[in-house]
Parts: sequence; structure tokens; C-alpha cells
Amino acid sequence: MSPSDATGEDAGANPVTPAPLAAMPRPRRDARDGAAEPETQTASPRPGRDARDGAAELETQTASPRPPRRDARDARKASDPRPGLSGMDDKDLEKWFAAEGQPAYRARQVREAIWKVNAKDAEEILTLPAPLRAKVDEAFRVDTIIEDEVKVADNGMTEKTLHLLYDGSLIESVLMHYPARGFGGQGRPLHRERHTLCISSQAGCAVGCPFCATGELGFGRDLETAEIVDQVRHAARRLAKTGRNLTNIVFMGMGEPLLNLNRVLEAVEILADPRKFGLGARHVVISTSGVVPGIRRLTALGPQFTLAISLHAARDPLRDVLVPLNRRWPVAEVVAAARDHARVTGRRVSYEYVMISGVNDAEVDADALAKLLRGDLAHVNLIPMNPVAHTPWVASSPERVAEFAARVRHGGIGVTIRSNRGQDAGAACGQLAADKAGEPPAPAVAKRRNEIVRQSEIALQGNRSAESLPAGLAGFVGTMKPR
Ligand code: SAH
Ligand code: SF4
Repeated sequence: MSPSDATGEDAGANPVTPAPLAAMPRPRRDARDGAAEPETQTASPRPGRDARDGAAELETQTASPRPPRRDARDARKASDPRPGLSGMDDKDLEKWFAAEGQPAYRARQVREAIWKVNAKDAEEILTLPAPLRAKVDEAFRVDTIIEDEVKVADNGMTEKTLHLLYDGSLIESVLMHYPARGFGGQGRPLHRERHTLCISSQAGCAVGCPFCATGELGFGRDLETAEIVDQVRHAARRLAKTGRNLTNIVFMGMGEPLLNLNRVLEAVEILADPRKFGLGARHVVISTSGVVPGIRRLTALGPQFTLAISLHAARDPLRDVLVPLNRRWPVAEVVAAARDHARVTGRRVSYEYVMISGVNDAEVDADALAKLLRGDLAHVNLIPMNPVAHTPWVASSPERVAEFAARVRHGGIGVTIRSNRGQDAGAACGQLAADKAGEPPAPAVAKRRNEIVRQSEIALQGNRSAESLPAGLAGFVGTMKPR
């Protein structure tokens, strides 16, 4: 994703953008291409030279969750059987303490250390006697994130963090600050200051949207519940140093949240729990590329979140290419599910639309979009595309975006133009991680670009894609049935 200036309340469009793996096991290529290719044929979304040059000017700081460990990367393990404490169910923790012959209140002490003290390691659980701390350390991970690398952009208003996980996976989160605005009587702001964190739900992504650096990298793995909520604990720790609190969370980082939905829902429950993170109700946005059964499952849970749909095209031929999941759940099915969501929950749905010059920004696209959403409880966020190296595409010009917005508005749909956040911090999804992976071979990039152009030309002639789902994605969604 790419951070834009959307807010949690208005559904946020804004992302961080996903993309994994640097020092991590390379993503499974079949997730993207449908077939394994030789390593040298891979086009992965490294930022182009321009993006990298921009990144060089960044203020970079390493904020390790614990004193920087020189050996952090060497210490990573292929697997760590110890559950992360922040993702644990209270009852399971109580059972563990009971088995250790300890009273139930020990679980409460651990919970408070995780959520009130925001402990980085067992040593910081001071309410436990030292021998018990050692046992806790043996059995659990107090923090599932080994190391952070923070890049600050937009004069400090955006902080993009690359998180290293135990197996070398790299995921990204983006913290965006929004000052109070619209001052009314007695200097009171009409809109309070907000601090929104965009988090990842997977390392990589199987959906494979060609404009997204994460999608290009392919799927790494699902995140554990604790790995999802520990991104929040890390941001909260940084904010707390200046007496500030997180106010909004958006699942617009790496990965497709509705393809790791059980853990995403566990994470949301933990974050909303007043004894844990205590995030204000309705301050969560979940963004999806259109996993219809997942949308229906969210609907059944009621009005707890804002739903954002990454639409990017209102017509199937083009959306087949821009969001390959469309070949499984086409536009009409996605919008029908979103419409039901708005009707049942009474909550407005946000539609994200990345503006790509000459691809999805024509008048006919604006008209199709307005027609598609007419009469719905919906709002469109237009986001100029952040450049990524493996595509030949660039963002629509500001004038084109404005004309497009006006045309959709004229059709009766609310539209907001989002400015991208963190342009100087490798804004497009996964660029920080991609940076670490190094330059891809030029022929691979050229091959990927040609393929994207070929597919989009077919789409622009109005023809549906003949491509099947990327193989890795087919594995994910093949057995899913709409509820
Ligand atoms: N997979 C989910 C959530 C993560 S992506 C989804 O697609 O909704 C979050 C957002 O970032 C999506 O709306 C996506 O379209 C957007 N995004 C990805 N790459 C981008 C780019 N290069 N420029 C602008 N936005 C991008
Ligand atoms: Fe990127 Fe598409 Fe995956 Fe979202 S669904 S993370 S935009 S590849």
C-alpha cells in the first residue's frame, strides 16, 4: 500500500503498502505468476533508482524494541514455537500459570505488563518474581518483533517502519500524524489530533495487484495474531515518549486481511479490549481487494469496523488485471456484498481507487464508477498511484484526478482526493523491504513490465482476462464459499 492522508473515520484510504521480505525466504513466485520460474526471471518490485535516490535523503533511525542486538538477524529462527504473549487468550495464559502452580492473578500481571507497561522482554515484567520471569521467557515471546527500522518522512508527519520477524520476514507499518484542525469557539478543534497506524496482516500478498510492490513480491506467510498487534505496541511505545496515543488503526499494510481473517479478528478484539489496548470503538478500518466471503463474515459481526474496498476499476476487464482476485469475485459481487454491509451495519463503505495515468482514469471509468455506486452508502477515495519499479505506470496528473473526481461527484457520489503520505520514504507498498532485497535483474523488470502492458491493453479493449488466478491465490480462495 502507499500511505495516503486518509483518516480512520472516513475510512481511510491509506495505506502503507505491503511488501515483504528482504532477508526472508523469498516469496513463492507461483503466488504471482501461476507457475514457478527460474530465479533470474523474477521481477520483484524493487523501487526504481529514483525512488531509491529519494530514500537516501531520509532521516533514518533504528528504534529497536530492545537494545540493538548486533546478531538480531543471525538469531532468527525458522520457527519459534513460543506463542507471542500479546496475542494470547487470557484463559490459555491462566491455564499455563495454573499448570505451573501459580495463582490466576499472574495472568493479569502479565497482561498489564504487555499492555500498560508495553514490556519488550521478560525482564520488564517486574510484578513477577525473577524465577517465574525466566519461565515465562522460556515459554513465550514477550515481543514477536525482533528489530525495527524507522524512516521519517513528510517533516515528521509520517513514520514508516520495517519490522523484522523471527524467521527473517520483513513487514511494514506506517504511522501517520494528523494535527487538530478546524478550530471553533474557545480555540477548541472541531477535528481532534489523530495518530493513525497502518498495519500489515500478512508478509507479502498472494493477490498480486500489478501496481503494488507487495503484490509483486508474492506471498510470504500469514502473520500470527501477536505479530499483528505487536506492530501496534511498537508504534504506541514510540508515541508514548511524547505523551501521545494511537487513535486509529487501518489494515492497509502488507497483505490481504480477509485472507488471514481469523487472526485479524482476534487482533481487533484484543485491540478493542479495554483491559488491553482499549482502542475506541469504530476506529478500525479493514481494507480488502474483494474477498466476498470475508466481507460477508464482517457484515455478520455488525458495525464494528469501517470497510474499505480496493476497487481501482468499475469494469471487469480492467479490474481483472488491476486486482486479479476479480477473476474469482467480479465487481458486481464485491459491490453487492459491500452494499449489504452498508445496509446491515448502517456504516458507509469506502472505495479506494488508485489513479493510474492512461489506465483507469478515463471519463468512461469515472462514469462507470458513478453508475456502479449510485444510491449506495458509499464514499470514493482517489489515490494517485505511487510509482513502483516493475510497472511502466505513473500516477494520473493532478488535473486528471480533479476532473475524474468532479465527474464522479456529478454522478452523485462523494469523493475525496487523497494526497500520498511518505513519498520520500519509499511510499509504495513494500518498498522498504524491497530495498533490502537489492536490485532485481533488469531483464526481469522489463519482462514484467511488458506482461503488465500486454494484459492491460487487452483489458482496455474491453475484453475479460483469459488468465487464470495466480496459482498461490487459487490455493487460498479455491475452497472458499460465499456464506
Ligand atoms: N490488500 C488490501 C489491504 C492492503 S493494500 C487491499 O488491497 O485493500 C492497501 C491499499 O494500498 C489498497 O487500496 C491498495 O490498492 C493501495 N496501494 C497499493 N499499491 C499502491 C501504489 N503503488 N500506489 C497507491 N496505492 C497503492
Ligand atoms: Fe497489494 Fe493488492 Fe495485496 Fe492489497 S491485495 S496488498 S493492493 S497486492
